[in-house]
Amino acid sequence: MKLNIVCIPGDGIGPEIVTEAKKVLNKVASVYGHEMIYTDILMGGASIDVHGVPLTDEAVETAKAADAVLMGSIGGDTTTSPWYKLAPNLRPEAGLLAIRKALNLFANLRPAVLYEELSDACPLRKDISENGFDMLIMRELTGGLYFGERYTTEENGVRKAVDTLSYDENEIRRVAKKGFDIAMKRRKKVTSVDKANVLDSSRLWRKVVEEVAADYPEVTLEHMLVDNCAMQLVKDPAQFDVILTENMFGDILSDEASMVTGSIGMLASASLNDSKFGLYEPSHGSAPDIAGKGIANPIATVLSAAMMLKYSFDLDKEAAAMEAAVKNVLKKGYRTVDIMSEGCTKVGCAEMGDLLADEIG
Ligand code: NAD
Repeated sequence: MKLNIVCIPGDGIGPEIVTEAKKVLNKVASVYGHEMIYTDILMGGASIDVHGVPLTDEAVETAKAADAVLMGSIGGDTTTSPWYKLAPNLRPEAGLLAIRKALNLFANLRPAVLYEELSDACPLRKDISENGFDMLIMRELTGGLYFGERYTTEENGVRKAVDTLSYDENEIRRVAKKGFDIAMKRRKKVTSVDKANVLDSSRLWRKVVEEVAADYPEVTLEHMLVDNCAMQLVKDPAQFDVILTENMFGDILSDEASMVTGSIGMLASASLNDSKFGLYEPSHGSAPDIAGKGIANPIATVLSAAMMLKYSFDLDKEAAAMEAAVKNVLKKGYRTVDIMSEGCTKVGCAEMGDLLADEIG
C-alpha cells in the first residue's frame, strides 16, 4: 500500500521525535511491504521564521492532498521566545488552530494507557493501578460551549457574562459514529458521558447516541453523568474502553485521564474528520527545555503514528506491531529520562527509536 503522509516536525523536540517515528514507520513499511511517501510542511515557530506566519495556505493545501498528517509539536518557551511577542493570530499555536479548522477535524481522540512496567508513575493507589488500564477518550472538538455565542454585558450596574452550549443532532451523530467505529476496533464498549439530568444539550446528546448505537449491535453502550465519570476515572479506570463526550467535558476528562497514567511522553492523540483523514500528534508540547539534547521520549509520537496506521489506513496488524514494540522495549527495561526508574537502562531519543524499529518484524 502507498501511504501519502504529510509530516509537521514543528518546533522544539518536534523534529527529533518525528525522525524516530519515521524510523519505526519505515521499518513497518519494509517488513509489511508498504511504501511511505513523506512530504514535510512548516508550521508554528518554524513557519514564522521562514514565512512570517504560523501556517501558509500552501502548507494547508499540501496537508489536504495527503492521506494523513503526522505532527511533532509546535511552540517555544512562552516567556522567552520572540514568537510570543507577536499578535495572538501570528503566534505558533494559531497555526494548529488554523489547520484543525481547515481540515474540519471535529473528533479528538486521546488514549490513556497505563503500561504495567510504568505503573509506579501512576499517582493512583497500587490496588487500583496494578492491572493497568487502556481507555480512549473521544471528544467532540468543534462545537459546544467553546464555540457558542458569548458576550459580557452590564445590567443595572451588575456585570453579567453569557456563554452558550449548543449542539445540533448532526454534530452529535458524526462524532458518535466515530466513537462507535473506533470501539469496533477495540473492546466494543462505549461510555457516553453527559449531564442529561440537567442540560437539554445532554438530553439530545443521549438520544442521538442511542440512535447511532442501534447500528452497532456488537457494541455495549452505557451512559454516565460527567461528575460520576470524573470520580470513576480515579476509582476504577480499567472499566473504560471508549469514552464519548462533548467538547468541554472531554477537555477536562482527557486531562484527568492522562494525568492518571503519570507519563506525558507516552500519550498519543489524533484529530479526525468524517473521512479517513486524520492529524496525529503526541499529547505533549514541544518541550523547549530539552530540545536539541537528544533525550526526548519519542514513544508518544510512535504511538500516534500507530494510530494513524489503524484509523487512516486500516492497517490494524501493523499498528498492533508498533504497539507491541513499545511494550517489549519497556519490558526489556529501556527508558528515556522522563520515565527512568531504578534498575532500568537509560537511552536517548534516537536509541529508543532504534530499539523500537528493531522490535518490528
Ligand atoms: P510540554 O509538554 O512541552 O512540556 C512539559 C514538561 O514535560 C517539560 O518538562 C518537558 O521537558 C516534558 N516533556 C514533554 N514531552 C516530553 C517528551 N516527549 N520527552 C521527555 N520529556 C517531555 O509543555 P509546556 O512546557 O507547557 O509547553 C511547551 C510549548 O509547547 C509551549 O509553546 C506550548 O504552547 C506548546 N504546546 C504545543 C502543543 C501542540 O503542539 N499540540 C501542545 C501543548 C503545548
